[in-house]
Amino acid sequence: MRYHAPATLEDATQLLGSDLGDCRILAGGTDLLVRMRSGFAEPDNILDIKRIDGMRDITAEDGGWRLGAAVSGAEMGEHAGLTADWPGVVEAAGLIGSTQIQGRCTVVGNLCNASPAADSVPALVAARATARIAGPNGTRDIPVEDVPTGPGKTSLAKDEFVASVFLPARPDTSGDAYLRFIPRTEMDIAVVGCGLSLTLDGDGTCTDARVALGAVGPKVIIVEDAAKALMGTKVDEAALDALAAACSAAATPIADKRGTVEFRTHVSGVLAKRAAKIAASRAGA
Ligand SMILES: Cc1cc2nc3c(=O)[nH]c(=O)nc-3n(C[C@H](O)[C@H](O)[C@H](O)COP(=O)(O)OP(=O)(O)OC[C@H]3O[C@@H](n4cnc5c(N)ncnc54)[C@H](O)[C@@H]3O)c2cc1C
Repeated sequence: MRYHAPATLEDATQLLGSDLGDCRILAGGTDLLVRMRSGFAEPDNILDIKRIDGMRDITAEDGGWRLGAAVSGAEMGEHAGLTADWPGVVEAAGLIGSTQIQGRCTVVGNLCNASPAADSVPALVAARATARIAGPNGTRDIPVEDVPTGPGKTSLAKDEFVASVFLPARPDTSGDAYLRFIPRTEMDIAVVGCGLSLTLDGDGTCTDARVALGAVGPKVIIVEDAAKALMGTKVDEAALDALAAACSAAATPIADKRGTVEFRTHVSGVLAKRAAKIAASRAGA
């Protein structure tokens, strides 16, 4: 196995496109190294992106924030501006693993690992985040929800990788939240996760909303009916009940030892309702 640590995007995409054999991107390694140690992944090459310019940076851009693909969960949590603008995304990233994992794990690794239960992905999707994909012809931007295509699979070509994610600007009267249900108090895989972002106008009426569920389908589910249930309302009990019903109706979970279909379906609505209340209060309701 060969280890590569290129310094530029161009060198990285060239290496990925070469005929050196199977090549895996290494960001924090908190998924990849575990898979390698347990024999589930045996790449011929490892491409460490951490030395590429900009990969460790959190940068203000057009009123939003660009996160390099190697920014860790801990670095996100320590960034005052990012935390003020996107508290739900930061809290979702902060739920990943333990203090040790936080020092390494990235939201881009979480996205590209393509686990249906990944914690930061529903929050990124609710935020309408985009992923900047680097490839042989330069870069292109796509919605984050278009990166994972199913469990363990992404839409990236062999010679592409995610260079950064972008969290767009939104009005000050906006808020977001992420909640998950796990059987333990920490260090567990989401049984259901819900990311929600909304914007209120001057009199507290919801003018924009986006709701994303994790762990209840092969990839994140964007629940448009749930967003519609909030829009034009003051996020009151009737709207919250309609939101919860839409989320439960949209969930398509599997049953396993951590939760039945019925439980996950019900909890999808419960978490969405609670997340909406938090997001609305962050928006100034
Ligand atoms: C003890 C422990 C607890 C955990 N707890 C949680 C949890 O609570 N919630 C949760 O969601 N996850 C959890 N995880 C899983 C893991 O920590 C997260 O998925 C993490 O965000 C992965 O980020 P990473 O940078 O370490 O990814 P890596 O391991 O470096 O990469 C993950 C995958 O994505 C690919 N990849 C990485 N970066 C890129 C890129 N820029 N472009 C293209 N492909 C890329 C890699 O090749 C690999 O296949 C846990 C893991 C451990 C070991």
